[in-house]
Amino acid sequence: MIDILIIGSGPAGLTAAIYAARAKLSHIVAEKDFMGSGAIAVTEQVDNFPGLFGISGYDLGEKFREHAEKLGTEIITAEAAEITRTESGFKTRFKDGSEIDSKTIVYAAGTSYRRLDIEGDKLLGVSYCATCDGAFYDGKTAAVIGGGDTALTDALYLAKIARKVYLIHRRDEFRANRSLVEKVKNCANIELVLSAKPTKITGEKRVSAIEISQNNETKTLDVNGVFAAIGSVPNTDVLKGLVELDERGYVKADENGETSLPGFYAAGDVRTKALRQVITACSDGACCVNSVEEYLNLR
Ligand SMILES: Cc1cc2nc3c(=O)[nH]c(=O)nc-3n(C[C@H](O)[C@H](O)[C@H](O)COP(=O)(O)OP(=O)(O)OC[C@H]3O[C@@H](n4cnc5c(N)ncnc54)[C@H](O)[C@@H]3O)c2cc1C
Repeated sequence: MIDILIIGSGPAGLTAAIYAARAKLSHIVAEKDFMGSGAIAVTEQVDNFPGLFGISGYDLGEKFREHAEKLGTEIITAEAAEITRTESGFKTRFKDGSEIDSKTIVYAAGTSYRRLDIEGDKLLGVSYCATCDGAFYDGKTAAVIGGGDTALTDALYLAKIARKVYLIHRRDEFRANRSLVEKVKNCANIELVLSAKPTKITGEKRVSAIEISQNNETKTLDVNGVFAAIGSVPNTDVLKGLVELDERGYVKADENGETSLPGFYAAGDVRTKALRQVITACSDGACCVNSVEEYLNLR
């Protein structure tokens, strides 16, 4: 029986591991898959993490990971499939059938991309990660769908590689950061397609066009790839019936990471909060371990 099972190896989970190691709490980090260190790993450049201006998301995540491992954290590749309350804490069963018993859990499983749900969305060339797949569009045409920070960042990233980028947004204004909006508007090879809703992606095996509905008209844009950046959904399927979630599926938790279930803490993007960023995820990870120490009567 370990003190804490940390589920997730993003900034929240790895910061929790650093604090757990320093507090001499026995702990294991379980990560679903190795993709660098959580969502930040696919970000080309991070300009808002104090002290590390301009670092790539991958390098930042690797620094977190290296830091935790240096302090003795064990990271295992295992996807949590079921969590049950036991008399002395929790039993977590993983997809591969293995199990871990822990006195407490810090749940830091983050979010996943919201999937496009239109005809043709499974064709080759439909992607949710511009930094992962953008290089395939050298000299080609791509469409980005969405109007938030991620969509605009993706459009700017792709505009450096592709010949042309359509940025398709259902409203006539963006809800993204103003400096990003300026950059997008000033970028010569990004064409804004506003008040437009994608209705269908077409192509044989690969994407060749996207249909949109704009001002009650159907239009077709010839594109080689479609990048969807239409928000995210919390990875909380495994928590249903165990802990209280809000109406969008995020774990209801306070600043200390406390949830409706004693001994079960939530950190990072997966929990209810106003700002989902690396810095707030790290802060959550630290606060959760502080709460664990209090819960286990260690302070
Ligand atoms: C394109 C993009 C650009 C961004 N740019 C910035 C930026 O410039 N600055 C900034 O501060 N933030 C940025 N963010 C936001 C930032 O990446 C997140 O706020 C941060 O990564 C959240 O950390 P987290 O630890 O909560 O979750 P995540 O980083 O999402 O990590 C979740 C972890 O949980 C694991 N996991 C999921 N389900 C399970 C399971 N069932 N069992 C085991 N493990 C599981 C995953 O494998 C992963 O390791 C960006 C995000 C995106 C997508």
